[in-house]
Amino acid sequence: MTSRRAFLKGLCGVAPLGSAAPTAVASAVKPAAASRDYFGELGVESFINALAPYSTLGGNQMWPEVIDAMDYGMGHRARMKDLHDAVGRRIASLIGCEAAMVSAGATSAITLGTAACLTGMDEERIQRLPDVTGMKSEVIIQRGHRYSYNHAVRNCGVRLVEVETVDDVERAINEKTAMLYFVWIRGSFGKIDAETFAGLGKRHGVASFIDTSTRVPPAENLKKLSNLGFDLKCFSGGKGLKGPYSAGLLLGKKELIAAARRNGAPHDDTIGRGMKVSKEELLGMMVAVEKTFRHDLEAEKREKGTWLDAIDVEVQSIAGVETERVLDRLPAMLIRWDSRVNLTPEQARTQLREGDPSIETRLVDGVLSVNTWCLDPEQVPTVRRRVGEVLRGRA
Ligand SMILES: *Cc1c(COP(=O)(O)O)cnc(C)c1O
Repeated sequence: MTSRRAFLKGLCGVAPLGSAAPTAVASAVKPAAASRDYFGELGVESFINALAPYSTLGGNQMWPEVIDAMDYGMGHRARMKDLHDAVGRRIASLIGCEAAMVSAGATSAITLGTAACLTGMDEERIQRLPDVTGMKSEVIIQRGHRYSYNHAVRNCGVRLVEVETVDDVERAINEKTAMLYFVWIRGSFGKIDAETFAGLGKRHGVASFIDTSTRVPPAENLKKLSNLGFDLKCFSGGKGLKGPYSAGLLLGKKELIAAARRNGAPHDDTIGRGMKVSKEELLGMMVAVEKTFRHDLEAEKREKGTWLDAIDVEVQSIAGVETERVLDRLPAMLIRWDSRVNLTPEQARTQLREGDPSIETRLVDGVLSVNTWCLDPEQVPTVRRRVGEVLRGRA
């Protein structure tokens, strides 16, 4: 109930913020307040996200234009194949890649992309997955790139083959190799860089995949990372793209995208049937891409930097506390303190989480980090007040 009014208040900049009254130039506009307080009815606690659009925290707020597109999608009928085709074409032309499809999150893009490399358009193989008997059945990955989302590859019944060096890759590639798999955020944990890894795939005629899920913003990464030489790449829709939470993108070669589509809904006897995407998610994802390209990210950074300024002023007035600005996609602030503040960073984080309202922050290498990326303007004074209270020992 309060959100609409509080939001408008934030818009007008009347919140008591001293030098840095927040504006809402670049921030998301919330939809009108719902007629029911669903979370309240359910006894589900809401919280302020002063960290990042993590999936466990519900991802990002969608662009208002995305919500509008989703409303349209829910209210209008189209055949799913037609809409899938048209949205895929539009997204591919916006990004400048050969082909694109909307998936049920980046995770399902990983599964469908892997499936595409295994089956192509072969009907019998598509129906047989995750049984890979008689098919290619190995995916090569650098040891340092092993991470939780590898499960999405293994869903297809393949075996992950770990390598470390270029020589290892050359030795590991054989007639069973279905795909080379690279994880952008794990890049520094591996010995082979992205271009070299993609080049190895090309040289040996093996498809290559890169997980670039969290690399937006900036929008340019949608194009840049599409040009690294990988045959397939995925992005998460509900994080930095501010599209539907459960949508994502699979981009790449025409024939592989066609095979990925064939491995999912609306085809019933497929590994991806459980990963269906609704009309509203298709449109929402498309508009998220459009909007991300049009968005003035620098203006948003400046605006959200001023929100940090406001929190900074409060925090710096506490004896023994100092701050450091970092760019964590959007501006963030690390807060350190000496023994004059009788609290560990972990305790500060817990107190912020357990306070009223609950505020989620994170520790970066053991240092408390506050990020204004996902804040609404009206939440800034609250974060400022609570961080101050906690560090002053008045939580
Ligand atoms: C979040 C994430 C994913 C999964 O994205 P979803 O859209 O939530 O499925 C995959 N890979 C990386 C690196 C991620 O951060």
